[in-house]
Amino acid sequence: MSEKSIFSRILDGEIPSDILYEDDLCFVIKDIAPKAPTHLLLIPKQEIPRLSDASEEDQALLGHLMLVAGKVAEAAGIGDAFRLIVNNGEGAGQTVFHLHLHILGNMKMAEGSLGF
Ligand code: AMP
Repeated sequence: MSEKSIFSRILDGEIPSDILYEDDLCFVIKDIAPKAPTHLLLIPKQEIPRLSDASEEDQALLGHLMLVAGKVAEAAGIGDAFRLIVNNGEGAGQTVFHLHLHILGNMKMAEGSLGF
């Protein structure tokens, strides 16, 4: 693997950030440039660059992230209305190539649409 990602550097304490949740497999921080009143990033400790780089071996980890997303949203007070976003690849707006789930809440969301 080349250089550590910015998220791994946060996890290792090299870049300051509040870690709001952590377990053996993943951790959660606030997005530094929030796109919604509540905007968290859920990040696996394992550096998978993009979702499309994940493999069968990562199945349990990916499922774990989904369960943690729900629990973290609940703890953040947005359990009833939140949105998960994964940007996959530069063309989709991915800027940090260490898989992460955006957890967004407390924003206006159009009913029955993706709201873009
Ligand atoms: P993406 O564009 O999907 O790759 O998302 C990367 C996200 O990481 C962006 O929303 C950035 O605002 C966020 N980000 C970048 N650097 C930091 C940092 N040091 N602490 C918290 N969030 C960050």
